[in-house]
Amino acid sequence: MTKIGLEIHCQLTKLESKLFCSCKANYREQEINSNVCPVCMGLPGTLPRINQKAIEKATIIAMALNCSTPEKIAFFRKNYFYPDLPKNFQITQLNIYGDTSVGGTGSIMVGDKKIRITRVQLEEDPGRLIYEGSSSKNQITLVDYNRAGTPLVEIVTEPDFENPKQVREFLNILSDLLENLNVSDPSLEGAMRADANVSIEGGNKVEIKNIGSFHDLEKAVHFEITRQESLHSREIPIIQETRHWDDKRKITISSRSKEEELDYRYFLEGDIPWIKIDSDTREKLRSEMPESISSKKNRYISEYGIPGQVADVLSSDKFYSDLFDKSHSQTNAKEVANIITTDLMGLVDTREKREQSKLTPEHLKDLADYIQEGKLSRSSAKNALYEIVKSGKKLSQTITELDLGNLSNEDELLKIIKQVISEEPKAVEQTKSNPQTINFLVGKVMQKTKGKADPSLTLNLLKKEVE
Ligand SMILES: [Zn+2]
Repeated sequence: MTKIGLEIHCQLTKLESKLFCSCKANYREQEINSNVCPVCMGLPGTLPRINQKAIEKATIIAMALNCSTPEKIAFFRKNYFYPDLPKNFQITQLNIYGDTSVGGTGSIMVGDKKIRITRVQLEEDPGRLIYEGSSSKNQITLVDYNRAGTPLVEIVTEPDFENPKQVREFLNILSDLLENLNVSDPSLEGAMRADANVSIEGGNKVEIKNIGSFHDLEKAVHFEITRQESLHSREIPIIQETRHWDDKRKITISSRSKEEELDYRYFLEGDIPWIKIDSDTREKLRSEMPESISSKKNRYISEYGIPGQVADVLSSDKFYSDLFDKSHSQTNAKEVANIITTDLMGLVDTREKREQSKLTPEHLKDLADYIQEGKLSRSSAKNALYEIVKSGKKLSQTITELDLGNLSNEDELLKIIKQVISEEPKAVEQTKSNPQTINFLVGKVMQKTKGKADPSLTLNLLKKEVE
């Protein structure tokens, strides 16, 4: 049987500062090597000071993954010499004196499959190495320490996955969960990285390191299973080793370095005392946790009668569920959900578009109300939405400017209906034998009015005219 285990590194991108100093946690878009201080550069004589919020956010992640949360946590030094690590050790967590990481064993359901979580730990991210140069001969390595010391949560799973599809489903659930907890933004470059271990029936375990995104993780696992199966079918032994994911060629390659044999000489970080998280604090954190995705979904279905599939899409994306929760009322909830899932999702499908969008909950509420009151057809509402996302203008103003209001003046509408009847004698004749044909005529009226005719009024008037 194929066995896959994961180690997910997730940056706590919603924090203000680094894990042990007051440099910014948001190291992106800053001039290289400007977001540093003596603490995160590991200069002699400096002392780390723990970011309390990071412990809280990491604990919330552990709770959401149904992990046990210990009374006391500790930090350890993991010693290794590498240019991305200014101190020559990384401050991380380890369970050698019992469970002293922020999260102990837990589990999460992926469909019908239970995935066990081994532990959740809090640690600092190293700096970023940048490789430049066209060939191996003239390649140079640059280092940017802006990222060094930013808070990172590592989530380790048991080898419970049996195929890449389960891995992908887990990653989808996990990134929605992290986003919903407001701890991390998985869409940021480098916010999610992973290692994986993969073994097939009768073979040794192979570790894959250096996978830079969730998207590549599934690919890397898939590649590695195929590689191992191919060796196995040719009766070539699969050796236990560490392989690196080459994200340009999309393959795993054997690491020539002996990294896996390194002795990290872990020892307790004496500059950070053991930190007590008593039951009152844990209860407080639990009570302040955002509503879970499954609870949102159930609420949308039971309180507003929103169909399961729509509720699923709406609840799993924090951007949309926040928008929905702020704009709906008891009476227009279904309409708001409908606008979001059928029209809005196509308009703001990237991070950039979301940031640029000028749509407010008030706009959405107005759109839904106008549709329900018959003031605006759905197709006109779609046009208005398109404009509002760009301009941010009020709905009433947008309707006037684009001349989108419903045509509900009976005399005016009747004129157009009579015109359609004279143009479509065949269809009018057919309505006698096939009443469904009337919909074709409604469609013609809609065409002539550019979607502005009130559909139910049009139908009623048409019925009277063709009888
Ligand atoms: Zn710093």
